[in-house]
Amino acid sequence: MSTPRRTPARTRARTPRHRRSTAAAALLTAVALTGTLTAARAAPAHGAQPPKEPVATGYGGAVASVSPYATQAGLDVLKHGGNAVDAAVATAAALGVVEPYSAGIGGGGFFVYYDARTHKVSTIDGRESGPAAMTTNWFIDPATGQPLSFTDAVNSGLSVGIPGTLKTWTTALNNWGTIPLGKALQGGIDIASKGFVVDPTFNSFTAMNQARFSQIAPTAQLFLPGGAPPAVGSVFKNPDLANTYKLLAKEGPGLFYGGELGKEVANTAQHPPTIPNPTMNFRPGGLTAADITGYNAPVQAPTHVNYKGLDVYSIAPPSSGGTTVGEALNILSNFNVNSGDQVQALHLYDEASKIAFADRNRWVGDAKFNDVPTKQLTSARYGDDRACLISPTSTLTAPVAPGNPFAPGGGTDCSAAAPSGTSYTDTEGMSTTHLVTSDKWGDVVSYTLTIEQTGGSAMTVPGRGFLLNNEMTDFDFVPLYPGVPDPNLPAAHKQPRSAMSPTIVLKNGKPFIAVGSPGGATIITTVLQILVDRLDLGMNLEQAIAAPRASQRNAASTQAEPAFLNLPQIPGLEALGETFTLAPPSGTPTPEIGAATGLEFLPNGAVEAAAEPARRGGGAAAVVHPVR
Ligand code: GLU
Repeated sequence: MSTPRRTPARTRARTPRHRRSTAAAALLTAVALTGTLTAARAAPAHGAQPPKEPVATGYGGAVASVSPYATQAGLDVLKHGGNAVDAAVATAAALGVVEPYSAGIGGGGFFVYYDARTHKVSTIDGRESGPAAMTTNWFIDPATGQPLSFTDAVNSGLSVGIPGTLKTWTTALNNWGTIPLGKALQGGIDIASKGFVVDPTFNSFTAMNQARFSQIAPTAQLFLPGGAPPAVGSVFKNPDLANTYKLLAKEGPGLFYGGELGKEVANTAQHPPTIPNPTMNFRPGGLTAADITGYNAPVQAPTHVNYKGLDVYSIAPPSSGGTTVGEALNILSNFNVNSGDQVQALHLYDEASKIAFADRNRWVGDAKFNDVPTKQLTSARYGDDRACLISPTSTLTAPVAPGNPFAPGGGTDCSAAAPSGTSYTDTEGMSTTHLVTSDKWGDVVSYTLTIEQTGGSAMTVPGRGFLLNNEMTDFDFVPLYPGVPDPNLPAAHKQPRSAMSPTIVLKNGKPFIAVGSPGGATIITTVLQILVDRLDLGMNLEQAIAAPRASQRNAASTQAEPAFLNLPQIPGLEALGETFTLAPPSGTPTPEIGAATGLEFLPNGAVEAAAEPARRGGGAAAVVHPVR
């Protein structure tokens, strides 16, 4: 599926693609020769916030992210002739500055790319990987023989995996971009230098991490100036990160993967830089500089399912996003979801998700270490096999047991009651961030990136301005079900299972929708719900993103946002046997699920970019040439 076919980015900036206009090419060439993208200033002077609209429609390319600063950084790159890949990296680099608790070069993610020239969808696996020293007992406390608590594991060097984000950016730029890394980082450098205005989300995310941030000296120094979270309305600068980005711009990714910065990352994980006499025990990790040097972010094939004639592409293992969203859609293909009966539609959504999660928890992990049945889980046949468990008049008792994608009939006996599974509590955080970009040539990017929990491992690399991930806690610490093989146990060089589901949907071979979300395991249900709302229930993308959310992940009760619990369909769902609990708080005043962004390509050739109107404080969408 991959098509690494172009010349290296640095050369390409001087010999742009055939379809770029001469004027744009001349500008890019001039910019390349001056060394920095001086024309593309992402942040106005003194950190003033760029325009922030949740929806924008128009032409010439689009960006949507959770932050107006990051969206502006991507838009500036598009306006100066960059393509969707360039803009995606620029937006992501800026998110590393303004959303440092969700994303940055200390973390990882998954990148999905539609190439308008080849009509192909490719992905980059930039997931963090376990260090060479990792064993199955990584999270077992040697003193007790028992697994560490999730909190103790998160707040330790053990949780830090080899970061993949910077490698994702260079892989994307080298394969499909047109500008060098330095130019893609320029917007982030500007924001980090001039600062950004602290909003209630940044303030509350800092406050919710204050206890652990205060234990790590460089984290406290950066994110708790004067001992407290930065005040709402104040301007937050990160000169260390500006310098780190500048160094990377000058020296290239080798500074990280094989150089001094990589050594510092490893040293931070091995020797957590705590304050003197900390009250929390940050255990040392085992990540080494050699681990980081050997890291690769490969281009890999997407998952694919056909839903109602549309081609839905997402991420293959080690993410469970593509297989689980795909399986649920294949199950739903067996029903008339848009019959007009809104209770049945939500019931089907909940039940399909429940079954797909049972299979996800049993079968999906790093495919380099397990025989993961990606093909079977995303096959229409398996969806058909599993669909027979769903009844329109009752609710499956959760947890339901997984099927067997290797067995005839998917291991599902439709004449018997659904067998019970074993309950499973997911621990993925509510952090992470998603962005989408497109360009005037028709290329599209859907990119989810993360440092796992909000605030990651809480460990800032001293003097470098970025936090390290705690992605290794996405592994199961012990086998989930006694006697049943667990594909998600820690191992050397293994990647933990993810839920990230950056998705691109094609209609007649052309981009139709790009979407994704943060939210740990709820990422899967959020992407699924947006697709169902948009494709089956008559909502437009803006409405589908704003709609109240519920998340059924093979648990006895479906998590829901307060607004979902007020829907008129709730009594009907309860009459079918469904039960609901309020989604856990995520650091914002109202419990919420996800923070999605998306693009829809309209029949008239325009693109609609959409972000959240309210969740996480609301996101920012922009297009190069707006029409409304
Ligand atoms: N670590 C999670 C995953 O890979 C994402 C974390 C989150 O969204 O909060 O699925």
